[in-house]
Amino acid sequence: MATVTTNMSEHPAWSDLTFSDNEAAVSTDTVTDYTATSEHNHPIVGDRVIEGDGTSQDAWQNWQGLQDLPRLNLAQNFLPHQRVCVFAPHPDDEILGCAGMLQQLAANGNPIILIHVTNGTQSHPDSQIYPPQKLNVIRPQESLAALKALGIAQQVTTMTLGLADGDVFAQQAPFNEKLAAIIQPDDILVTPFVHDGHPDHEATGQVVSAFAKQHNLACYQALIWAWHWAKPDDGRIPWHCALRVDLTAEQLQRKTQAIACFKSQITVDESTGNPPILSAQAIARISQLWEVYLYEPHV
Ligand SMILES: [Zn+2]
Repeated sequence: MATVTTNMSEHPAWSDLTFSDNEAAVSTDTVTDYTATSEHNHPIVGDRVIEGDGTSQDAWQNWQGLQDLPRLNLAQNFLPHQRVCVFAPHPDDEILGCAGMLQQLAANGNPIILIHVTNGTQSHPDSQIYPPQKLNVIRPQESLAALKALGIAQQVTTMTLGLADGDVFAQQAPFNEKLAAIIQPDDILVTPFVHDGHPDHEATGQVVSAFAKQHNLACYQALIWAWHWAKPDDGRIPWHCALRVDLTAEQLQRKTQAIACFKSQITVDESTGNPPILSAQAIARISQLWEVYLYEPHV
C-alpha cells in the first residue's frame, strides 16, 4: 500500500477520486476524512483504485493463468454440517462475488449465514430517487429477491450489522465485537479480498480475516472489485493462494438473474443523471463461469 499523507492542501479528498462504485462517495459529515497521495493513490486502497472501465472480460477470459488455477470442490472440501458465514460489505456483494459458491453450498446442505456489514445506503449521493433512508430498505429487499432468483432463499439466514456505508474502516472495533457475538467455532468464513480495492471491502476483508486467524477458522477471500483494477497475472494478487470455483451454465444463468434483481444498482438515476453503479462492463466481467477465492491455510 502506498504511503499515506495527511497534507490536505496538496491532495484531493478521497471522495473526489472516481469510484464506479459510488458507495464510496459519501458525504463528508459522516465519513472519516481521508486524503489521497495522488490522483491514482488512495490512502486506504493505494493503487487499487476503481476508475474508468477497468480490465475487460476478454482479458480475463483469455488469460491461461485463470484456467490453470486449482479448483475448489465445495462438496469435497466443506463438510455439509459446517456453517458458512458470507460477509457482504454492501447488499449485492454476496451475489457479485459468491453467487456460484452460494448455490453450491446450498446444494451441499451447508447452513448459510449472510451478513450485510452495511445496508449500502450511500450508493446514490444527492439522489431524490434513492435517498439513504430508502436505500436502507430497498437494498436488503433486492438481496432477498436475488437469493430467491438463485433458488436458495430458504436456506440462507440474513442479518445486518448496521455499520455506516462508506466508513467501515473507522468502525473496525464495533465490527469485531459483533463478529464475536455471531461466529461459532467450526464456522467457515467468506469475505471480500483484503485488497479488493473498495475501502469498505478491504476493511471487511481485514476484520474478518484477522478474526479467522485469531480463532483458527477457515477463511476464503472473494475477488469482487479486484477484477476491475487488476490485470491478468497482476502482482498485487497472491495467485498462489487462489482457488477457482467452476459454475455450471445453469448456476451462471441464475447468477445473472440474481444480479438483475439489484435494480437500484443497474439503472440510471434519473434525478441526478448518474449512470448505473454497476456498468454493463462490470456486470459482464463478473458474470463468468468461475469465481476466485484466496485461501491460506493457518499454520
Ligand atoms: Zn460493495
